[in-house]
Amino acid sequence: MIDKSQLPEVKGEYRFDAKLNNWFDLRGRAEILFRPKDAEDLAFFLKNISPEFNVQIIGAGSNVIISDDGVKGIVIKLPASFSEINHNENTITLGSASLCLNVAQYCKNFGLGGLEFLSGIPGSIGGAIAMNAGCYGADIAQTLISATAIDYLGNFHEINNIDFDFFYRGNNLSKKYIFISGKFKIAKSNPQEVSDKISELQKNRENAQPIRAKTGGSTFKNPPNKKAWELIDAVGFRGKSIGDAQISQKHCNFLINNKNASSKELIALGEETRKAVLKAFNINLEWEIKILE
Ligand SMILES: Cc1cc2nc3c(=O)[nH]c(=O)nc-3n(C[C@H](O)[C@H](O)[C@H](O)COP(=O)(O)OP(=O)(O)OC[C@H]3O[C@@H](n4cnc5c(N)ncnc54)[C@H](O)[C@@H]3O)c2cc1C
Repeated sequence: MIDKSQLPEVKGEYRFDAKLNNWFDLRGRAEILFRPKDAEDLAFFLKNISPEFNVQIIGAGSNVIISDDGVKGIVIKLPASFSEINHNENTITLGSASLCLNVAQYCKNFGLGGLEFLSGIPGSIGGAIAMNAGCYGADIAQTLISATAIDYLGNFHEINNIDFDFFYRGNNLSKKYIFISGKFKIAKSNPQEVSDKISELQKNRENAQPIRAKTGGSTFKNPPNKKAWELIDAVGFRGKSIGDAQISQKHCNFLINNKNASSKELIALGEETRKAVLKAFNINLEWEIKILE
C-alpha cells in the first residue's frame, strides 16, 4: 500500500481507490489515480516518484482489461487540459487526451482530410499513438509526423515517426514513454468530402462489429497474412462463452462482457482461444488488448 506521504507534491490530483472507466465495464479500481495539471507537473511527478512503485498510463480505456483485483501502484490519466487541437494548412497538433472521435469531428468541421479513420476508434490520441491504431487501410504510422513524449524519468522528447519503427498495432521504441501530443499530416479536402468518408467508414463498422457491446475492440493482433477472426471461427469458437464473457457472434475477434463478466473470465476465454488456434494451426495469437493489473 502506498501512503500519501510517499507521493511527490504535485499541482494535479491524486485519487485513492479510484474508478477506472473502461469499455469492458470492468470494476477493478486503481490503488491511486494521478491526474497531472499540465506536462510540467507530469514530468515533475515522474522525476520524483520512487522507482519501486508501479506507474502506468491509461487513455480512454478502450483497449484494456482491468484486473478484478485492482491495479497496483499509480495509474496516470491525462485530463482535459491535454486535449488541445490546433491546425495550419498542412498539419494538425492533437493533445493526447483528445478523443479520436472528437478529432474526426473537428476535421469534418474544418474540411481537413486524412484522419477520417479516427472516427471509428473509441480511444484517445495518446492510446492511438501507443497502439498504432488504425482501420480500413489507414493508421497512425501513415499520418503521424512526430510526437511529444515524456519518459518515465521525467525527460521530454520529440520523437519523429521514423524513430517509432511502427508495426501493426505497436512500435519498436527502445523505452516506455507517455505521449502528451502528436503532430499529424493533413490533406486538403472539404467538410462534405470528409463527412462522406466518415459516414462510409461508420456504416462498414456498424455492419461488421459489435460496437454497442461492452468490449475492447480486436482482442488479438492479426498474424502475418491471416485474419485472427477467421482462425477463431475455424476452431468453432464463434459465440463461445465462459460465464458472462463471450466471443462475439458478430465478429469472432471481439470479446464481449454480456453483463457482469470478470477480468478472469475474459482472460480465461482469450487463453482458451489461443490454445485452440495453436493446436489447430500452430499459430500463436498475440493479445492486442493490454491487461492492467
Ligand atoms: C468498439 C471498439 C472498436 C475498436 N476498433 C478499433 C479499430 O478499428 N482499430 C484499432 O486500432 N483499435 C480499435 N479499438 C481499440 C482501441 O480503441 C484502440 O487501441 C485505441 O487506440 C486505444 O486508445 P485508448 O485511449 O482507449 O487507450 P487505452 O485502452 O486506455 O490504453 C491502451 C494502451 O495504450 C497505452 N496508452 C494510453 N494512453 C497513452 C499515452 N498517452 N502515452 C503512452 N501510452 C498510452 C496504455 O498504457 C495501454 O497500454 C476498438 C475498441 C473498441 C472498444
